[in-house]
Amino acid sequence: MLEVSPVRAFSDNYIWLIRTPGDPTGAAVVDPGDARPVEDALDREGLRLRAIFVTHHHPDHVGGVRDLVSRHGAPVLGPAREEIPCASSRLSDGDRVNLDELALEFSVLDIPGHTLGHIAFHGHGALFCGDTLFSAGCGRLFEGTPEEMWDSLSKLARLAPSTRVYCAHEYTLANLAFAAAVEPANDAIAARAAVEAAKRREGLPTLPSTIGEERATNPFLRADLAVPRRAAEAHAGRPLATPVASFAALREWKNGFK
Ligand SMILES: [Zn+2]
Repeated sequence: MLEVSPVRAFSDNYIWLIRTPGDPTGAAVVDPGDARPVEDALDREGLRLRAIFVTHHHPDHVGGVRDLVSRHGAPVLGPAREEIPCASSRLSDGDRVNLDELALEFSVLDIPGHTLGHIAFHGHGALFCGDTLFSAGCGRLFEGTPEEMWDSLSKLARLAPSTRVYCAHEYTLANLAFAAAVEPANDAIAARAAVEAAKRREGLPTLPSTIGEERATNPFLRADLAVPRRAAEAHAGRPLATPVASFAALREWKNGFK
């Protein structure tokens, strides 16, 4: 199992720091929106930065890339279809990342919707999925269509239930409040809300979650099921004949949910 720890940035971002199994003094980071907290974490742990993974082009995911590359010279592995600072590998669906000397190996998934070129890294039982799948939620559709996002989320939902989900923001409690509004009688959502609220009171991250937990509690992965679909229909005031229509209505509902 990979050793992964969160580096906090901005108000609610997590930059994931991965210890590289093949190099005890090495580390990789995912989506370094800010270089300073990454440098602090590397210094504190006595680690050298060996690789930078990027899921999509938004500034809070790439803002620290240039500074980290200029200091550490680490390769930048990012999406083929987006402009990423200092990109050394441009990756898309089906590509494999093999960093032999670090003993890190990931497969790349195209997951458009939040942005058009958004990718995820999957390997070692872990998923680094940026702003596409959140814990109990999903990213906003800034560039893609509901159909693209639904396909992307469905692709992630098919991964093994034990897969650990490392997304890029601490949104879990707000997302679970929405999930409970969609499915008030879902015991898994209520139970999870209590567990995650206790973590937050202790100042702990709620992440990673797992694909299995997401399938049980995330309304956006459950948009094709009867209860979430009926809730979406009641809110939208019209029938929703397809999973994509149900997903789109849930996403619209969440955009205005307080
Ligand atoms: Zn984003």
